[in-house]
Amino acid sequence: MTLNRRRFLGTTVAAAGVLSAPMVMGQARPRVVVIGGGAGGATAARYVAKDSQGAIDVTLIEPTRRYYTCFFSNLYLGGFREMESLGHSYATLAAEYGINVVHDWATGVDRDAKTVALAGGAAVPYDRLIMSPGIDFVDGSVPGWDLSAQGVMPHAYKAGTQTELLKRQIMAMPEGGTFVMIAPPNPYRCPPGPYERISMVAHLLKANNPTAKIIIADPKEKYSKQALFEEGWNKHYGGMIERLGPDFGGGNVSVNPATMEVDIDGEVIKADVVNVIPGQKAGAICAAAGLTEGNWAPVDGHSMVSRMDENVYILGDATDQGDMPKSGFSANSQAKVAAMAVRGALTGSRVFPAKYSNTCWSLIATDDGVKVGAAYEPTDEKIASVSSFVSQTGEDAAMRKTTFEESIGWYSGITSDMFG
Ligand SMILES: Cc1cc2nc3c(=O)[nH]c(=O)nc-3n(C[C@H](O)[C@H](O)[C@H](O)COP(=O)(O)OP(=O)(O)OC[C@H]3O[C@@H](n4cnc5c(N)ncnc54)[C@H](O)[C@@H]3O)c2cc1C
Repeated sequence: MTLNRRRFLGTTVAAAGVLSAPMVMGQARPRVVVIGGGAGGATAARYVAKDSQGAIDVTLIEPTRRYYTCFFSNLYLGGFREMESLGHSYATLAAEYGINVVHDWATGVDRDAKTVALAGGAAVPYDRLIMSPGIDFVDGSVPGWDLSAQGVMPHAYKAGTQTELLKRQIMAMPEGGTFVMIAPPNPYRCPPGPYERISMVAHLLKANNPTAKIIIADPKEKYSKQALFEEGWNKHYGGMIERLGPDFGGGNVSVNPATMEVDIDGEVIKADVVNVIPGQKAGAICAAAGLTEGNWAPVDGHSMVSRMDENVYILGDATDQGDMPKSGFSANSQAKVAAMAVRGALTGSRVFPAKYSNTCWSLIATDDGVKVGAAYEPTDEKIASVSSFVSQTGEDAAMRKTTFEESIGWYSGITSDMFG
């Protein structure tokens, strides 16, 4: 376990910031530990370190050395992005912001002692803990599927090798073969994500295997941007995509990874590729820390503080917060509110009222981008939507191209905001 060496290295880098920091020398710096270096965690770590100018000691715990964004991973499937363009390292957070980046799993939180246990055996102390571990999957959500089947029937709902596997499988489909997606029940990560994925798979197959078929088994009555996706699928991929909603048994599904069979309401389909996106819950560390109710971690939208522990802030997909969708944009927006609240609690810096925003972009075909978004403000009960917008059906090609270009600018902006 290299925690001691890493913390020593990180502390050395941080020392430069400490010298110029507006704080009382000799007084121990308050400690913020962040679990999870994704959209929420990386942003929170960066903002606490940057805005406190060295007055707070920040440790980021993240097992992977390179974070591959789920956002734009569908564009990799469609052939619009290279996988490497989705990968980001933690080097700048360590070198320029003085963050102690520890590559390990958090396995538990002792909320009385205020320490985080690591798989490597160490216990990392904190004054405030920020958790943004993303999602895990609900056991038994799709009968026949569990994590041991992900190498045969990938979920590709955590990006990287899973996404690459799914693309290899699609490219290896026989002529006229069948792709089946099992779509997840609400609430889940990225509401339009499965349907953008269908668009990108159709785009890939139209070019390489135009007689292939795509079937979606969906337990939901309706889904995000449905009219826009249906219009786009008719326009670009006519006859290729069939969606079976709950009326057609889309919620009554089981799979057999050994035979590549999918049973949809009693009808057994032999598939070439099966993309199982199971039901979801907060990253397992939230339940291990005793911070969940049901599948999610309840938080106060004024600051993103846990409703169960005033020293713990929880962000992103793991939370039960109200109206915001589980998106990278939401996690990034929530991270800035939490970072400001944590700084206020530890250094007395000014805390402004929370405001949040989100936009979810989806690419349907080349230069055919659509979006949905909203602004949010907290009430005592939840984070509430206060205004919203959505692309319209029938928009002209120029507008759709502009929307796609806007999404490219957003990707580059949000990843700089996360990783420096
Ligand atoms: C196909 C797809 C497309 C998407 N497209 C978009 C989009 O266009 N726009 C958008 O805004 N969002 C999009 N999203 C959603 C977005 O990826 C997530 O909402 C966002 O990543 C959530 O951020 P997070 O910080 O909660 O979790 P994550 O970004 O998943 O980060 C969690 C991190 O925590 C780490 N972790 C987990 N457990 C532990 C532990 N015990 N110890 C230490 N570290 C741990 C993980 O390794 C991970 O790096 C998409 C998602 C998918 C699947």
